[in-house]
Amino acid sequence: MTSARSTDRTAATPTVGTRPMPRAVIVGGGFAGLSAARRLARGPVQVTLLDRTGVHLFQPLLYQVAAGLLSEGQISAPLRHLFRRHPHVDCLVADVHDIDLDRRLVHAHRPDGSDLQVGYDHLIVAAGVQQSYFGHDEYARYAPGMKSIDDALVIRRRIYQAFEAAEALPTAEQRRPWLTFALVGAGPTGVELAGQIRELATRTLTEEFRTIDPAEATVLLFDGGDRALASFSQGLSAAATRTLRRLGVELHTRSRVTSLDEHGLDVTGHDGATRRVDARTVLWTAGVAAPPLAGVLARASGAPQAHDGRVEVRPDLTLPGHPDVFVVGDLMSLDHLPGVAETAMQAGRHAARQVLHTVGHPDGIAPGTPFRYRDVGSAAYVSRGHALLEAGPLRLSGTAGWLAWGLIHLAFLTGYRNRAAALTSWLTTLAAGNRRERAFPTVARAAHE
Ligand SMILES: Cc1cc2nc3c(=O)[nH]c(=O)nc-3n(C[C@H](O)[C@H](O)[C@H](O)COP(=O)(O)OP(=O)(O)OC[C@H]3O[C@@H](n4cnc5c(N)ncnc54)[C@H](O)[C@@H]3O)c2cc1C
Repeated sequence: MTSARSTDRTAATPTVGTRPMPRAVIVGGGFAGLSAARRLARGPVQVTLLDRTGVHLFQPLLYQVAAGLLSEGQISAPLRHLFRRHPHVDCLVADVHDIDLDRRLVHAHRPDGSDLQVGYDHLIVAAGVQQSYFGHDEYARYAPGMKSIDDALVIRRRIYQAFEAAEALPTAEQRRPWLTFALVGAGPTGVELAGQIRELATRTLTEEFRTIDPAEATVLLFDGGDRALASFSQGLSAAATRTLRRLGVELHTRSRVTSLDEHGLDVTGHDGATRRVDARTVLWTAGVAAPPLAGVLARASGAPQAHDGRVEVRPDLTLPGHPDVFVVGDLMSLDHLPGVAETAMQAGRHAARQVLHTVGHPDGIAPGTPFRYRDVGSAAYVSRGHALLEAGPLRLSGTAGWLAWGLIHLAFLTGYRNRAAALTSWLTTLAAGNRRERAFPTVARAAHE
């Protein structure tokens, strides 16, 4: 419920010399929003950065939080802290629910339930996407997805509690569903998480249980397509599949989930036969869709929406008829660009540079300049000592890919402290197989909130 109190942050624009500073509002402090804000912070622009969590999250390492390798603090950074030395950047925790393009107003809820209204001269919407269950939202209850810190901690709880539940049961038959982990979607997140579960079962937990043998855990990875990691070349995808099989992950391609409940799932294979899989831990690592904010923008501007709801933007990343409003990052749809961090960062910077032009900043580019994506490649972790890297003609797998993967992720992780902490955790886990980040909110606590 929202309170009647509301805050209007549209007044009192600071001035530089005799000209008032233009006001830019950014919705979302992810890769796109943070890159835009960092660019705008260089110029005389009053920036309000609204994010519902107040932290920048490095989503590519969420699966390591879920698997107990890293803590949530090691892959996130408070936005207020990042901009503490930029007085013209105001970071607010606020959940944006409406945008009035005619009156140039953003409407949000603050954490205490009060309403917030922020006016803008330029608006950059970088709210990302959310998990999609392909029309079966009821699956979310049984099979958490992985988009946020909350999701990662829920998955962490489910993984570690499954081993605890198995330990408490007297017969192998009763334990089996608890020691069966099913993942739906063999893209990078599904592959990474499947590998992590087998690794923690065969390395981390080996000496910790008295009744069960954690290494007996079965990890099933289902995908409707022909191969895992379909966004990578055939050769790299095949190398990853071999590694997964060596690790003990059972990969089932051309297999579609047809129903799902708290005891397991039904899967229809390529032969058309449906089989029941008893698995008490099912994780959803397939599909994304645009959040409701995309519909708000599309309806208000007449912009079309892609099949997954993302907003189709003009080549300069603006909404049709609204040169003051940019939609960037995962939320935008343009020329089938991939929904990856690099696209988001480049798009955020491109939008910000068009805004900087209005204040004559040397880094500015003329409004209307088309966005040109520079493909820097992609990487995916498979298991200890094995990762993939594909950048132009360069294709790496195995140890070479793994080292490259580590360097890239360290370079892009936000903040020196996070890099040092992540590196320390990785080295400790490599040396001792240990994972110390295993705390999670209990079910009772989560339900209470
Ligand atoms: C598990 C996982 C693994 C991934 N691995 C890789 C990888 O290895 N390599 C790679 O390149 N990409 C990877 N990606 C994709 C990459 O993370 C995204 O492409 C990137 O995060 C998109 O950036 P963005 O800024 O558009 O959105 P996001 O990073 O999702 O940021 C959106 C921000 O908006 C905020 N927000 C959302 N709605 C609202 C609202 N209504 N009001 C206020 N704030 C709001 C959110 O809190 C969030 O901070 C991965 C994604 C996931 C989920």
